[in-house]
Amino acid sequence: MSSTPSSPADPARVPVPDRLAARPTSRGLVVPYVTLTHRDPARPVWGMLHHHRQRHTLWAKLCQICGQPLHERVVLYLRSVDYQRGLSVEPGLHPECAHYSRRACPMLTGQQQHYHPNPAVRLARCADPDCGCRYWQPRHPDPREKAREAQPAEAWYEAWLARSDYRVIDDPGTEHLAPETGIDLRGVRFLRLRKIRDAAQPATDQPPEPLAMLIAIRALFGT
Ligand SMILES: [Zn+2]
Ligand SMILES: [Zn+2]
Repeated sequence: MSSTPSSPADPARVPVPDRLAARPTSRGLVVPYVTLTHRDPARPVWGMLHHHRQRHTLWAKLCQICGQPLHERVVLYLRSVDYQRGLSVEPGLHPECAHYSRRACPMLTGQQQHYHPNPAVRLARCADPDCGCRYWQPRHPDPREKAREAQPAEAWYEAWLARSDYRVIDDPGTEHLAPETGIDLRGVRFLRLRKIRDAAQPATDQPPEPLAMLIAIRALFGT
């Protein structure tokens, strides 16, 4: 199996595409449209989502980085657990916004080995009396939901699909899976698929991940 192509650059030095030129930045990094921020949009809470905006982004078929409508080709960032469930909970991206994110986002470049810890600390108030942060509450996750906080990063994959295959659904969940809204992956034909980062703690005694197997099968059949 080929190794993951990653040569992490300094995120602040990654060229910003024109489409993202108007987005706020924090320490040189573009703040994605779906990221929770203080009233000052250049003060993100990294790793936390603006939940209403996230839902709107999904249903309105907007790009999660620039917030503009998606076009003919859509990029998704997936983990094998998403593929197994048949649901991508991350909204799609424009190819150029994806290209930027893959080179600048520490989770996607592989520089970040764990998800952010302790959401309560990250939700600390700022000094702006007009900022909505004083109403922020730590989310109470569904007991069926596997908490991501401080967990080691999984392998991440990049998949391309046609916008006509970008179907948003409310997945009701199961006994073991919390309800989620996302993109229905069942029956979707990936136009491209590749691994972009390895897991922080790769399991050595496990069979290959489902998405790694799918990549191998696609290579075998030349798709
Ligand atoms: Zn975009
Ligand atoms: Zn604030």
